[in-house]
Amino acid sequence: MLEPFRNEPLTNFSDPKQKQLFEAALCKVEAEGGRVYPIRIGSERIVTARKLESVNPADPAQVVGLVAQADQALANKAVLSAAAAFESWRKTSAPQRARCLYKTAALLRRRKHEFSACMVLEAGKSWSEADADTAEAIDFLEFYGREMERLDQRQPLVRIPGEDNELTYIPLGVGIVIPPWNFPLAIMAGMTTAAVVAGNTVVLKPASATPVIAAKFVELLEEAGLPDGVVSFVPGSGSEVGDTLVDHPLTRFISFTGSREVGLRINERAAITAPGQKWIKRVVAEMGGKDAIIVDSDADLELAAEAIAASAFGFAGQKCSACSRAIVVGPAYNDVIRRVAERTEAIVTGNPKRADVYMGPVIDKKAFDKINEYIEIGKTEGRLVAGSSAGDPSLGYFIEPTIFADVAPDARIAQEEIFGPVLAFHRAATFEEALEIANGTDYGLTGSVISNNRAHLEAARESFHVGNLYFNRKCTGAFVGVHPFGGFNMSGTDSKAGGRDYLLLFTQPKVVSERL
Ligand code: GLU
Repeated sequence: MLEPFRNEPLTNFSDPKQKQLFEAALCKVEAEGGRVYPIRIGSERIVTARKLESVNPADPAQVVGLVAQADQALANKAVLSAAAAFESWRKTSAPQRARCLYKTAALLRRRKHEFSACMVLEAGKSWSEADADTAEAIDFLEFYGREMERLDQRQPLVRIPGEDNELTYIPLGVGIVIPPWNFPLAIMAGMTTAAVVAGNTVVLKPASATPVIAAKFVELLEEAGLPDGVVSFVPGSGSEVGDTLVDHPLTRFISFTGSREVGLRINERAAITAPGQKWIKRVVAEMGGKDAIIVDSDADLELAAEAIAASAFGFAGQKCSACSRAIVVGPAYNDVIRRVAERTEAIVTGNPKRADVYMGPVIDKKAFDKINEYIEIGKTEGRLVAGSSAGDPSLGYFIEPTIFADVAPDARIAQEEIFGPVLAFHRAATFEEALEIANGTDYGLTGSVISNNRAHLEAARESFHVGNLYFNRKCTGAFVGVHPFGGFNMSGTDSKAGGRDYLLLFTQPKVVSERL
């Protein structure tokens, strides 16, 4: 009998034993910097001449691993191989497929710190952020395994005399999984294994900034007994490999998490029917956010400051759930800014290899340049309260946590997703106006309201239009199964990762009716 799902506990790094184990894991992963990770198609392991050096964003001279790069021909081959593997995988029973996920979870639990350490080095995560990422990956494996077993049970139908009716959820076919670099283990693993446990085969194109952690996870799937060909690993550029995979006539669905720009591009390309294509491609896209925290006039201001700082600057604001707008109702405006600024100044930044570092670098040079451009724009759109000095990118892509006050709701830094540690403050005269400002972007992912006013909380429940709304807490850190995650409008296709509806996106229901 399977234990009921429960979230994986987080590691307490103030325990010297855990600290020591984590340091050892960092050393182990650093020693593997010269490893080459091959492309995986079916049972083939292919090392191409072209390799990507995955580097540490806190120290770009440090190579974390070398990853073979696919081209169009290999991308096409991967789709054909996945289509062939689908014929047997779809006939593998749901409990057997789920078992592969449970075994992967067990292996990952045993090597937890090694995987987290890899994210510290490859993605610039702090120890706690990396540990939470690994815990979430374990959660997805355990949760989706159980979800598939639930969907595999006899589904309730209205019974009529003289007929036997049955509804089953069958898989779709070949899926392309294009995950993001910001939760390079959890979201990548969740997207991949949700599709796989539902009976589909997958071509995984890892994020170009974090292919090593993805390669390590695919090795783990193999160790757990997942048959060859169920997950192919095809790293490469979006314009070459990504487009080829999306456009292929045998591609049945695309599961994407990343920027709005790329998500919309995928959606458009997927809408074109290729010669020989027999279905409408399904697109599941989770895109950006421009998330707001509203601080009501009667709010606990310490709680508000804590929630804002944690949501804005955790993992350097590189979460689609991050708070990039704080909207303060009434006279506490300057007080809240002061409290958030104080907390911001106390943030320990630096190379996250160090246990005490809270905020590391941003992911790469492109992000570093883009965020700095927005900071320059911010200086013309608001009053600089904290941060803003840019370092030398050759020494790591570090950006200080940055706060702007007195920003107009239609300013560019209040409307466009920056995906970095940049926070804008807005003033609102009433709670209604605050809600209007909060809803006044193209996105609708997360949001928080810090308030003790029941009527205001209920008004927000009804009209704050986001997929994940939080009251009196931060707007990041959704837990699998507890806070199914995903947003509205330009934030994506309204899916909920880590929720009961998620696997349905990768299945199609079939009904068989037999006259008795
Ligand atoms: N699930 C994450 C959270 O609640 C955010 C995911 C993302 O940024 O893509 O913070």
